[in-house]
Amino acid sequence: MKKIIFATGNEGKMKEVRMIMEGSGYQVVSLKEEGLSPNIVEDGTTFEENAVIKARAVMELTGEIAMADDSGLEVDYLDKAPGIYSARFMGEDTPYDIKNQYIIDKLSGVPEEKRTARFVCAIACAFPDGRVLTTRGTIEGIIGYEIAGSNGFGYDPIFYVPEYGKTTAELTPEQKNQVSHRAKALEAMKKLI
Ligand code: IMP
Repeated sequence: MKKIIFATGNEGKMKEVRMIMEGSGYQVVSLKEEGLSPNIVEDGTTFEENAVIKARAVMELTGEIAMADDSGLEVDYLDKAPGIYSARFMGEDTPYDIKNQYIIDKLSGVPEEKRTARFVCAIACAFPDGRVLTTRGTIEGIIGYEIAGSNGFGYDPIFYVPEYGKTTAELTPEQKNQVSHRAKALEAMKKLI
């Protein structure tokens, strides 16, 4: 079976990626399984650019097909911040309780129709022959009025999904994996490769 190296150090992501890529005809392995820990500078200006930077770097390092993702939260009222800076927003080591409360406070008094937001995920796949493919998946929601739920990670406790009447931190992992930005982008990539 042909191999794809997925450029993430995050085991949670790897689990999701393996589940979705099942039946694709590719064996998806992690950087860790390959004994790699490259230091890649993500200096792109879009989710797609950052995903391509990571996928290409791992492909060039290994000579194998490499895949990478880049994701984040866009809050429309904040001009789509934190966007590509989602992980670095207010400092990489700042706890998400603080980041999430900051966003809620910034939207204090803002009516529901202006609280729109989305999670975005770009996936890039880089092939040794130089071809690079990208896909994008999104999930639309609104920024809640308070932190709710303890599943998931990052901005999940403030990302309210109207169809479920819950934040993504209140969905089960299975429910979230069915509708997530990452799942949609990966499904699209699975069809392309
Ligand atoms: P990266 O794609 O691993 O660089 O992560 C980007 C950042 O976006 C994460 O550290 C989170 O802050 C945020 N993010 C991306 N996807 C999600 C999600 O599904 N839930 C909550 N936060 C997310």
